[in-house]
Amino acid sequence: MNTYAATLFAPEDLRIVESDLGPLAPGMVRLRFGAGGICGSDLHYFRHARTGDFVVSSPLVLGHEVAGDIVEINGSAPGLAVGDRVAVNPSRWCGHCSYCREGRPNLCENIFFMGSASKTPHMQGGFASIFDATPAQCVKVPGTTPYAAAALAEPLAVCLHAVMRAGDLRDRSVIVFGAGPIGLLTMLAAKLKGCSSATMVDIAAAPLALATQLGADRIINVGEGSEELAEAVRGRRFDVAFEVTGSPAGLASAIASVRRGGVLVQVGNLPGGQIQVPANAIMAKELDFKGTFRFGREFDEAVGLITGGAVDVLQLVTAEFPLSSAEAAFRLASDRSRSVKVVLNRDLC
Ligand SMILES: [Zn+2]
Ligand SMILES: [Zn+2]
Repeated sequence: MNTYAATLFAPEDLRIVESDLGPLAPGMVRLRFGAGGICGSDLHYFRHARTGDFVVSSPLVLGHEVAGDIVEINGSAPGLAVGDRVAVNPSRWCGHCSYCREGRPNLCENIFFMGSASKTPHMQGGFASIFDATPAQCVKVPGTTPYAAAALAEPLAVCLHAVMRAGDLRDRSVIVFGAGPIGLLTMLAAKLKGCSSATMVDIAAAPLALATQLGADRIINVGEGSEELAEAVRGRRFDVAFEVTGSPAGLASAIASVRRGGVLVQVGNLPGGQIQVPANAIMAKELDFKGTFRFGREFDEAVGLITGGAVDVLQLVTAEFPLSSAEAAFRLASDRSRSVKVVLNRDLC
């Protein structure tokens, strides 16, 4: 069966490449692309052919926020049938390493993750008209759930996991650095988990305006200077900070913003290599500085929250393109003043 896929060859060199998938391997499910969200990490790959410490060394089909329909099943796929609409979990866990056994499958030693250069050979992504997955990756959604909403279960799962890492958020004041899709969904997830207030910080006005629409209690634009943030921190330091910008400056601000004994969760992917961090403040303030990486069971929770109407992820979508126009979609998504979440849709042919 033929497929065409948005394939990255080098920085800014994203091409639609046709290929023959061949027969479906035993134990696998074949999917027709419904929609896919362009993620910050996809954009890093697009611009630099790397994200953080993961470097693209051979052509990589991008995309790990995808949903589609099952067109073929080879073998047993409990609960799934041809024609089902599914959200695709981009993670393939081994299920038997020590991390999988202790219930932290996102740390699996043998994990494969769609559209990621974390391993070589790379696991190809889901921005493809037809692609294959394991049955365990497919979470069925109602036929009435828009593909784009199902696709955005993935970033929501990332944020549910980040919020879980922070511990009990009930009656906690939360500050989120970075109002891109992950920052915004982290704010929504923190609210869902009962935080008392959520403050969003960014350097750009457009995403902060959306943050307000989505229910942020306070927005701070540090692009206009750092006085307002300094004043907010003086007034009452925050119980929990989420660093989502992936920038050393964001991390330094997050460390400064948390109260003594507070919690700081690193969600953003910082530049590769070594960075400067005011680390003594972590010691002196006795902060709990936690990492968060992808997600585990939160994927199913995210699908449930979306299909049940508890979280409207489509509010984040600012533009939609057909899959075959992926390059134009990536160019628009790269401009934060004009876009938050850009979605690719199945081509109408
Ligand atoms: Zn993502
Ligand atoms: Zn494992």
